[in-house]
Amino acid sequence: MPESRPAIELIDATKRYGDVVALDSVSLQIQPGEFFCLLGPSGCGKTTTLNLIGGFLPLSSGELRIEGRRVNDLPPHKRNVNTVFQNYALFPHMTVAENVAFGLKMEKLGRDEIRRRVGEYLDLVGLSQYAGRSSSQLSGGQQQRVALARALAKRPAVLLLDEPLGALDLKLRHHMQLELGRIHRQVGTTFVFVTHDQEEALSMSTRIAVMSGGHVVQVGTPQEIYYRPVDRFAADFIGESNFLDGVVVREDGRCAFVLEGGERMPAPEGAQVGPATLMLRPESVAVGPLGSAPGPAIKGRVEGAAFMGNHTRVTVSTAAGALVVHRLHGSGAAALAPIGQLGEEASVWWATGESTVMARAERGATDGSDT
Ligand code: ADP
Ligand code: MG
Repeated sequence: MPESRPAIELIDATKRYGDVVALDSVSLQIQPGEFFCLLGPSGCGKTTTLNLIGGFLPLSSGELRIEGRRVNDLPPHKRNVNTVFQNYALFPHMTVAENVAFGLKMEKLGRDEIRRRVGEYLDLVGLSQYAGRSSSQLSGGQQQRVALARALAKRPAVLLLDEPLGALDLKLRHHMQLELGRIHRQVGTTFVFVTHDQEEALSMSTRIAVMSGGHVVQVGTPQEIYYRPVDRFAADFIGESNFLDGVVVREDGRCAFVLEGGERMPAPEGAQVGPATLMLRPESVAVGPLGSAPGPAIKGRVEGAAFMGNHTRVTVSTAAGALVVHRLHGSGAAALAPIGQLGEEASVWWATGESTVMARAERGATDGSDT
């Protein structure tokens, strides 16, 4: 069997700007054909990582491999990667077709091959009918597509995209997210995509690297990142989360979580015994009148219920802290089931499999954002 080499491999990659450590000994593998997303707050090192891969910045230490080859000392045009920048960087005095052809001419491809590729990639991004138009006469979304066609036409092994949808309005952004997914499936090129938008990362990626302060705190599929965040930072950055402090104990061969205040709930098997934080997504928590739980539950008090359109947001206080509960509408029963009277005691419960035990950590310690 042929050995499959990672498309991109960072080994203890570090980048310093003077005293600032923008990337701190990061090791990461991106497999061929992935739609890999670097996700994190402003200043966490996403653009730096992309620029290192693209060859626009030298590493301070560590190694970078593309398709198995060490490229630390190779200039950008020898790396078989191409970049789509947020500002598109099109040539305004050129037509759409000339923009796409530009890099191919630089590569000294034959005229017929250039014409064929320009046609193929404008078709791919749905802009064939605009080939002769000046690129300055296009909308933002169209310019974005030209930039994409131009980058893909060179058939790089890896396409780097730095917040490519950041300048588009929300509706166009959602449309381009779908388009990018389709184009990725069609060409099969490895995409490395940078965003600070968690929804964008969750909806588009094969895998996500969550970054903070120059570190990669977690790599996983969107589902793993959402349901099994490794720490409070990752859980907080992606979606809304509830945190309950307590202690994991093992009794009669089963794991239990003893909340502050003494109440206990079953804990996921394999949870490490000792002080811990239990993470629950708002849609994973149920609340009902006292005694209405189908299994183990803790006591709470319904403090508020706000109609939010597609869900009702219920706030519940418990001995271990406040919880936010989302009751999704549209499923009839769940939306209509009673939650108990405001201010009265209620039962609160969740499916053990939808809870995540994480190490108890000081808040905010990992957020290196400085912008
Ligand atoms: P992101 O793209 O995630 O917002 P960057 O990779 O641009 O983050 O920046 C990471 C860190 O490196 C930040 O603290 C930023 O201020 C710093 N930084 C980026 N570029 C430079 C530079 N040219 N000189 C000094 N510091 C820089
Ligand atoms: Mg950036």
